[in-house]
Amino acid sequence: MTDALSVADLTDVYVRLDCDLLVVGDSILTDRHHASNGNYDADDPQNQIGGIIPAYPLSGWLRHGMEKVVQQHGHTACHPGESTANFMKADVYDRDLEAGYHEKGACVDDTKVDDGCVIFDLFGGFEGIPGKLMRRPIKFSPVRASVDYTHGQAEGHYRRLNRNVVSRNPEDHREPLRNSGIDAVANLDGCWHLSFREPNPAFLGLLAEAIDFLKRNNTEFMHQLGGSRNFGAGIVYCDLINPLYEDRELDRVFDRGKGSTTAMDEKDKRWAENHRPEIEDALAARVGSDHE
Ligand SMILES: [Zn+2]
Repeated sequence: MTDALSVADLTDVYVRLDCDLLVVGDSILTDRHHASNGNYDADDPQNQIGGIIPAYPLSGWLRHGMEKVVQQHGHTACHPGESTANFMKADVYDRDLEAGYHEKGACVDDTKVDDGCVIFDLFGGFEGIPGKLMRRPIKFSPVRASVDYTHGQAEGHYRRLNRNVVSRNPEDHREPLRNSGIDAVANLDGCWHLSFREPNPAFLGLLAEAIDFLKRNNTEFMHQLGGSRNFGAGIVYCDLINPLYEDRELDRVFDRGKGSTTAMDEKDKRWAENHRPEIEDALAARVGSDHE
């Protein structure tokens, strides 16, 4: 990230994710074995547990936002599922195809494999066709001082939440009928590091517009992240961090004690006035020329 940066060369970007409560099923990987020493108590608020949020739910959330952006440009998006897959609900797949999607890979010209639509290009297709967007997992820690934002990390507080389904008969005094535990990360705030395997202003344009879309629609059921959506989990305030920022400026974004510098404000202006229109134009040109 330097002043001499050209958008055409940019491959690594950071998205800020700020979410009060994130539930991604049982797929959070914790490092509690390091600190527990056999005395681990899942409910102890003193636990200093860090871990990894896998990229799968993040990827699905981002992809859905990108699909919406492509559709808002008046085009269809690649469906994430192969048309030949044995879907449990084939009629629902067909309905998706009528609602802004084309069959996965239908955009690829048989003679040229690297010719798919922009979604296909980023997320990959059938076996052997890798996507050009690498979505990293997010490492989180409850100790902000040990969070390295410039490596795509986040502050976050892991808890195992227990939920009981209780009896409705008064004489049972709310006796639990069933207990289930879910992994959750509270007060998540940090960076998601995304890498384009080849630089392309249209990819950046799609990412920037998708992040804006997801932020605007962050309380919509379809665009919340992960589970427990009706309980307010997965409402994400997301922003593409200005790619013109240098590492120390990126750190400053997360430092509540410091505001932005004049240099950062100047970069924000430059990004908004010069680069953002450039990548939006590149995206419009790309989706306009894609096969569907
Ligand atoms: Zn496609």
